[in-house]
Amino acid sequence: MGNFPEIFAASVLGLIFGSFLNVVIHRLPKAILKDADASLNCLLWPGSTAPCCGEKLYWYENIPVISWLVLGGNCGHCKKPITPRYILVELLTGVAFAWSIWVYGLGITGSVYALFFAMAITLFFIDLETFLLPDRLTLAMLWLGLSAAAMGYLPISPVDAILGACLGYLLPWAINAVYYAVRKHDGFGGGDFKLLAAFGAWLGWAEIVPILCGASIIGLIVIGLVSIVKRERLLMSQALPFGPFLILSGLSFVIGGA
Ligand SMILES: [Zn+2]
Repeated sequence: MGNFPEIFAASVLGLIFGSFLNVVIHRLPKAILKDADASLNCLLWPGSTAPCCGEKLYWYENIPVISWLVLGGNCGHCKKPITPRYILVELLTGVAFAWSIWVYGLGITGSVYALFFAMAITLFFIDLETFLLPDRLTLAMLWLGLSAAAMGYLPISPVDAILGACLGYLLPWAINAVYYAVRKHDGFGGGDFKLLAAFGAWLGWAEIVPILCGASIIGLIVIGLVSIVKRERLLMSQALPFGPFLILSGLSFVIGGA
């Protein structure tokens, strides 16, 4: 358990880190689509630019949450509205960092969980916006979980983490193979297998089926709500990535199991 100053410091660090995650969400998919083996230098250089018009940002336009609020959600240069995703990612990362330190204390376990949440938040928004789940992120999440379990920083044993990763990959792969045989097109993307494998490494094999069921239920509810709002029937296979549902379901097990 972290104390109040530690939790407060973690939340501020999370807001700042969230600002960097927004850059990753904006630039990583573009870099991958251009070149699958693209160097990640693009995430650090050039410095922060406006997503709309590419203008360089002044330091005061780059303060997490505050800049977005002060500018009224609009770009300071071209005045176009900036997606609320920017402030949302910063706030979520701030809360995730604070939660990690609150629950696991200031130490390696708390930091490892903060990093895990940062990757999950980034994957959530990248998949939502581009239908991509970059290997660099899903595999980083997988290896971080396996290493943390091997070194005893997770509540599950290393064997459980390895079995979780294997089952997390194989179960959706097998479901997809059956689906493909019947429907002649994929039900899941390969990124979904790696994402569920990563959650398996963090939560163990026993949570794989519950996560998959949870994701399907969340997916059906969201599709139902979207259909009502849009007043048209939305099919399971169209227009929605599965990754965000997997992430929502997986995170609820991480938070619920803490
Ligand atoms: Zn602009």
